[in-house]
Amino acid sequence: MMDGDTQLSSTPLGRPVQTACGGYVLLEERTSHTIFKGRQVYFCLPTCRESFLRDPNTSCMAGDLLSSDQ
Ligand SMILES: [Zn+2]
Repeated sequence: MMDGDTQLSSTPLGRPVQTACGGYVLLEERTSHTIFKGRQVYFCLPTCRESFLRDPNTSCMAGDLLSSDQ
């Protein structure tokens, strides 16, 4: 089993999850996501994920993540 990094997500498939952009998408197996500072982060589009990974500190969503980080 290779579910080690999926245990952070308790959201079942088909349920809405907030994306890095502040929107919502229904969680699917193919939903773009990554782990940022130990948190599961979702993206509405693969391009959003690429943008975030390129520069997490200035992406449209990072402000919320960074500000809530202790
Ligand atoms: Zn987006």
